[in-house]
Amino acid sequence: MSIETTNALVVRAVEFSESSLVVSLFTRDFGKVGALAKGARRLKNPFETSLDLLASIRVSFIRKNRDALDLLTEAKLVRRFRPTRRNLRGLYAGYYLVETLDAATVDYEPNPELWDLADATLARFQTDDDVPRRLAAYEAGLLDALGEFPSTRFCVECGEELPLDSVKNPDRRVLFAPNEGGVVCARCRAEKNFFELIPTTIAAFRLLEASLALAGGDESAPFDEFSPQGRAAYRDLVGRYLARVLNRRLKTANFMRFIDSSRTPKPETPTRPSESPESETSPENAQTTEAAPST
Ligand SMILES: [Zn+2]
Repeated sequence: MSIETTNALVVRAVEFSESSLVVSLFTRDFGKVGALAKGARRLKNPFETSLDLLASIRVSFIRKNRDALDLLTEAKLVRRFRPTRRNLRGLYAGYYLVETLDAATVDYEPNPELWDLADATLARFQTDDDVPRRLAAYEAGLLDALGEFPSTRFCVECGEELPLDSVKNPDRRVLFAPNEGGVVCARCRAEKNFFELIPTTIAAFRLLEASLALAGGDESAPFDEFSPQGRAAYRDLVGRYLARVLNRRLKTANFMRFIDSSRTPKPETPTRPSESPESETSPENAQTTEAAPST
């Protein structure tokens, strides 16, 4: 048994007994950690109010054996996740982010690069009006941190560069093979049998590239100059590819129509991902072009 100290994001918090919580933390140095927070539900407790969903905290915990929960001994709030009431998009995007994080991370497999990106993105969601762009940067960075960023210009099968000119015709169709993780040229498409091919457009890949550049700190990366059709194609592609990479249907994918839309979401609090009922909308339906803003 040893005491570990690290920074963490609260991915889930579930009532365990009358006085305790079981929390799932994505820690910077240890990956995902499940821990028991004894007394966390008491009015006076050692964690105060630091264990709220999506809070950025500093924690100490006692590491137990594989079959037992770790024991949280200390938690201090670094930053609460509480977007302003005006910024409902940030709130929806935060719930989406936490669901992808939960799906993408593994116990005791640290990914500090992903942690830093998620932490910085959540801070932006609270204050920034620029939520769709920040969310796209997070998605691209997430794919990159998982080693799943797709081949966007070269055929994933033969390596040939595709003649893709985004300036002349961004809405030109391209085929994407999610299992192989990249675009597919016409010849390979004719010669090989792919398990699945997603029809999309050049713009979707250019947006994905711009989002990765933004995740890497390039604030000049183009995003807003893409048409609503281009952004809708991006959303459809990334939604379907992320579901494949994470091997799960994301319940919060339904929030995208509020996040990507230019319409202001209705002022109601969305259901937390951990509490939301099984969605009746299929991911395919949730990610279609309905999200296109109409300004
Ligand atoms: Zn090819």
